[in-house]
Amino acid sequence: MDNPGAPAGEPKRSPRRGLHLFCPDRLVNSVLEIAPAELRQQGIRGIILDLDNTLVPWRREEISPDVMAWLTRLKSEGFQLCILSNSVLSRRSERIATLLGCPNVRQARKPRRQGFRRAMEAMGTTPAETAVIGDQMFTDILGGNRSGIYTIMVRPLHSREFLYTRLVSRPPERLLLRLFRRRGYL
Ligand SMILES: [Mg+2]
Repeated sequence: MDNPGAPAGEPKRSPRRGLHLFCPDRLVNSVLEIAPAELRQQGIRGIILDLDNTLVPWRREEISPDVMAWLTRLKSEGFQLCILSNSVLSRRSERIATLLGCPNVRQARKPRRQGFRRAMEAMGTTPAETAVIGDQMFTDILGGNRSGIYTIMVRPLHSREFLYTRLVSRPPERLLLRLFRRRGYL
């Protein structure tokens, strides 16, 4: 935390520039590695969740029992959740949001900031109180960093995804992750 003594509502994270806009605050293999206590220590109250390859395999609907238990625990500990998906299959994200009892921001057009703002409005949180968890650097992480929120990148649940993602997004993503590791950012 850059400035833990800042009054509530004040931005606590310094704005990112250049390549730092692509670097997540944290990189995990699975959402299950993210402990609620650790989020609370960061001052997080609301969590924006990507859907495809973060909570469910690409274009699927079933949340695994361990991920469901993790989500249920976050809710029972008082965290606000919101689904933010670029997917055009909005009925599927609606059903998942209903199951989780949380808002769903459709056609988010990440990395644009508007969807992140709508998600924070739905949860009643400020950027300093919000985290995003997602599997893609150029949508979830870039959009989160542009919005001044805490960004957690997760390894994709499954290798099946949009051809565009696999061919266009993943290679530079891997290069940048390697660079960030070498520079000690991750
Ligand atoms: Mg995704």
